[in-house]
Formats: sequence, structure tokens, C-alpha cells
Amino acid sequence: MDGYQGVPIRQPVVAMSYICADCGAENQLKPREPIRCQDCGHRIMYKKRTKRMVQFEAR
Ligand SMILES: [Zn+2]
Repeated sequence: MDGYQGVPIRQPVVAMSYICADCGAENQLKPREPIRCQDCGHRIMYKKRTKRMVQFEAR
């Protein structure tokens, strides 16, 4: 019998809710995804929970 080597477990990625500062669309962004509105492309988003503004200046 082959020993059952555990399958690599993919941890569920927790998506965070962000609100676009420009158009107000809610975006579900995963931690590794760039902060960017999927609706209008704006880069200033509010975190829904903390209401703290997250701004990324792309250069
Ligand atoms: Zn937007």
C-alpha cells in the first residue's frame, strides 16, 4: 500500500471588500491582487471594514 501523502492544502484566500473612492463599486480583492477598481480602474479604495483609506500611487 502506498502511504497517503497529504495533498498540498491550498489555504482559502480571504478576499477583502473594498469600496472604490471614485465610483463606489464594491470590489472583492484578494491580498495579492493590486488595489484597483475592477469597474472603473481607480486606484483609491476604501477598506470596507476599517473605512481606512488605502491609496497606491502607481509609478
Ligand atoms: Zn471604481
